[in-house]
Amino acid sequence: MAGSKYAYVRNFELPDPLLPGTFLVFRLDGHSFHRFSTEHQFTKPNDVQALMLMDHAARDVMEEYKDIVLAFGESDEYSFLLRKSTSLYNRRESKICSTLTSYFTSCYVFHWKEYFPDSPLLYPPSFDGRIVLYPSSREIRDYFSWRQADTHINNLYNTIFWALVQQGGKTTTDAHAALRGTVSSQKHEMLFKSFGVNYNEIDARFRKGSILVRDIEDEPAPPELPEPTPASSTAGDQSISESTSAAEASHKPLKQKKNKAQPKAKTKINLLHCDIIKDEFWDARPHLLE
Ligand code: ATP
Ligand code: ATP
Ligand code: MG
Ligand code: MG
Ligand code: MG
Ligand code: MG
Repeated sequence: MAGSKYAYVRNFELPDPLLPGTFLVFRLDGHSFHRFSTEHQFTKPNDVQALMLMDHAARDVMEEYKDIVLAFGESDEYSFLLRKSTSLYNRRESKICSTLTSYFTSCYVFHWKEYFPDSPLLYPPSFDGRIVLYPSSREIRDYFSWRQADTHINNLYNTIFWALVQQGGKTTTDAHAALRGTVSSQKHEMLFKSFGVNYNEIDARFRKGSILVRDIEDEPAPPELPEPTPASSTAGDQSISESTSAAEASHKPLKQKKNKAQPKAKTKINLLHCDIIKDEFWDARPHLLE
């Protein structure tokens, strides 16, 4: 297309490539969800429907972007791990970050009614997004350990805090004051002695967060078709079969060669609420850190 005399302004747009050969972690977080959760009357401390909606939107993102191998969610945030070899949008940072944030947000709104049939959206929610690069699997392990440890710390606090308010009749100010300076073991004890709650028996979804992992299925998939089909997933609740999506296909770099001879391993996305700090989860899935 011929350029107009104005086209030079394009030169002010700076390239923002992400360093090649590094892991990408994309994290998004709900904007002012303290207010959003209050106005939409989320159950405290944990609204299961709200968490399931987050999981659904995150799964949609993973279905659309096959280079995401793992995601971890808690509260109003989700982290996504993209393989270090990804060439998504030629690794342009703002393109990846803005598109993924926008897609997640759309999916959150799109599915809202399925999770909150009696509670219409009062205003449009938004999410912020960021991308952090990590050089090795060590930092990736530590990153996900950091988020899961955060889930634990927050959930323990929130569980006892809301027990003091909802069952103990304390004001929120008094409940905060009662917890000030307490360590983990004291919180466990307060919860058990005052409210008969064994923390370890609380739903693992709340204690461990949500893990969406792209697992390799046992049987190999049939050889790839010559043309990728547009999004045509017949996904069930717990697993989704692969098919290159229209959105991603249209952004594949042109030089990418087709791997016709070797059939790709079939994968499915599993939702778990398990420990990801210890080795077991990772040892069973060496492909995540390749
Ligand atoms: P910011 O815009 O800086 O992220 P924020 O108000 O979203 O501000 P966060 O630190 O992200 O603050 O915390 C999110 C808050 O949203 C939580 O503290 C909690 O009050 C609420 N929240 C999010 N998800 C749920 C849920 N499933 N059930 C109950 N409350 C939730
Ligand atoms: P990219 O993801 O790189 O932006 P794109 O397909 O969105 O790819 P654009 O250069 O942004 O490409 O162009 C948007 C295209 O969307 C237009 O070329 C046009 O075909 C279509 N389009 C957008 N808005 C309208 C509209 N109001 N009416 C008709 N077509 C539209
Ligand atoms: Mg925040
Ligand atoms: Mg937030
Ligand atoms: Mg948050
Ligand atoms: Mg466009």
